[in-house]
Amino acid sequence: MLLAVVAVGGAMGFRSLLEGLGQFYYLPMVPAVVVTALLARRPATALAIALSIAVNLILPPRESLSEALTNAALFAGVTWLIAEICWGFRALNSRTRDLTQQLAAKDAMLNTALASVPVVTLEANGDIRRLNPAAADLFALTEKAARGRPFIELAPGFDINAIVGSGAPGGPLEAKDGHWTGLRPDGATFPLSIQYGIVPGSTGGELIALCLTDLSRWHAADAQARELHAQLNKVWRLNSLGEMAATLAHELNQPLSAAATYLHASQMDMERAGPLGDSALRTTALAKGQLLRAGQIIRRMRELLSPEAHRLDSERASSMVEDLGPILTMIGSSKGVTIRLDVEARDDRVQAERIQFQQAMVNLTRNAVEAVGDHTAPEVVIIGRVLSDTHYSISVEDNGPGIAEDQIDRIFQPMTTTKSGGMGLGLSVTRTIVESHGGRLQVSRSALGGAAFSFNLNREPSVENA
Ligand code: ADP
Repeated sequence: MLLAVVAVGGAMGFRSLLEGLGQFYYLPMVPAVVVTALLARRPATALAIALSIAVNLILPPRESLSEALTNAALFAGVTWLIAEICWGFRALNSRTRDLTQQLAAKDAMLNTALASVPVVTLEANGDIRRLNPAAADLFALTEKAARGRPFIELAPGFDINAIVGSGAPGGPLEAKDGHWTGLRPDGATFPLSIQYGIVPGSTGGELIALCLTDLSRWHAADAQARELHAQLNKVWRLNSLGEMAATLAHELNQPLSAAATYLHASQMDMERAGPLGDSALRTTALAKGQLLRAGQIIRRMRELLSPEAHRLDSERASSMVEDLGPILTMIGSSKGVTIRLDVEARDDRVQAERIQFQQAMVNLTRNAVEAVGDHTAPEVVIIGRVLSDTHYSISVEDNGPGIAEDQIDRIFQPMTTTKSGGMGLGLSVTRTIVESHGGRLQVSRSALGGAAFSFNLNREPSVENA
């Protein structure tokens, strides 16, 4: 409002300066209204127009009343129109500024993203037109050295015709062996995936933009996961065989001993029978010898397969569980279950034999996933917590049916299973592993509603305390 008053005042002053040159009436007021319209809103502009008209009507009239009114109306109409144009211009200006800012932000984002993605631009004949710094790093080349060279020299087997002839605007470029191979000047190779897009060239024609992904790290992680999987399988076979041998030895020990005792009693009877029983005595002695041998064989087998006393190392509980990530994902995805990890990583050094511990975790998690299989919202979580100065607790919990009180002792016995294809060895193997770590495998009801299998590991004194 103040602006309107000042602008009109200024225009009046200007008009009085021009007084000597002639009669200007409303003309000097036009810039005052335009300035107000440009810098302020509609009410201030309306005030500037009203003030201009009032000043022209109040000052000693030099024209008739009808002329004065017509001029005032004309002035109001024309200046309002000019003001509308000014506001339109201002709105357009601010929209352009917004768009420019948005565009600059997008540009910055795109540049940041592209800086870390190796991108190579090719001519239609497969020669390199440009490559960004990330691509130059990937191929250990300078842009200058790469420019003009056929891309096939950097990625042997690359087929430009697969793109040019496809007619597709872009997408992943499928390789025969599942990935392309990149080649560095020192002869080193690395796995590569390629996404392509057709882009218009600045001088007409089309260029091909290739977005490259170095798969080395994925491949290394994949190989690591496979290796761990193979190790766990081997450990599982040995552990389950050991568990079976122990069970067999335990179960057969009694009947074999009983049979040997009966044969011994028969021998004594035959001795009493004198020479008549001599022949039977010999065969009975042979049978008894074989029975004792069978007992020894079973005991020997048990000794051979009983888990060796492994050395416990200092390990981080969180890292042992996190390393199982790909295997847990595989176990979960077979039943559509996402396994959540909630393992405290602070002060988590424990005494453990890495692969045996991981075997125990896989067994418990597989059971949990199988237990929640029919649930509409299945939940499986692995929890790790520092329990005290000396203990770290691990539990695997689910929202399955849980374990009935009267079944708790039974499920730990070897060869007890409720599954059609189950071996009933998972929990007994796990219990043996936990006990070899100085812990006790326990089962209770989880807060999630299902079973919670838990045990403690001995903590390593932390570096600060050591
Ligand atoms: P298997 O998995 O081959 O049956 P285990 O020894 O691992 O052998 O498990 C024995 C039994 O314990 C299972 O058949 C199942 O009935 C029960 N069980 C194990 N874990 C769970 C669990 N998380 N929830 C419910 N029942 C379970």
